[in-house]
Amino acid sequence: MLTIQGKQYITTKIASEITGYGESYIQRLAKQNKVEGMKIGPAWAIEKESIIKYAANTNPPAARLSIKMNLKAIQLGHKMRKAPDGRVHCIYCGESIKNIYEGKPSCKKQ
Ligand SMILES: [Zn+2]
Repeated sequence: MLTIQGKQYITTKIASEITGYGESYIQRLAKQNKVEGMKIGPAWAIEKESIIKYAANTNPPAARLSIKMNLKAIQLGHKMRKAPDGRVHCIYCGESIKNIYEGKPSCKKQ
């Protein structure tokens, strides 16, 4: 994570994990100035609050909650993956996103 003038910038990969959007879609949002981003070489750094705000305003309430849950899980060191059945678990410790959001501690296996 990169902090410039008090703003936190994240990779498109992390932005994708938080929001569920594809990385190329996030790059497009940055190119179109729909979210704040900075091009660094071939990659983009995305301003964290702007992509969270964009996703929260664009998605219906259920998706908004999952963005909040994903963000919390990532901050605790988990790496979330969505299974084909729609359930979201940490690929490191196997904890479900619901348990993490409702107060499980940081990821045990990192
Ligand atoms: Zn974990």
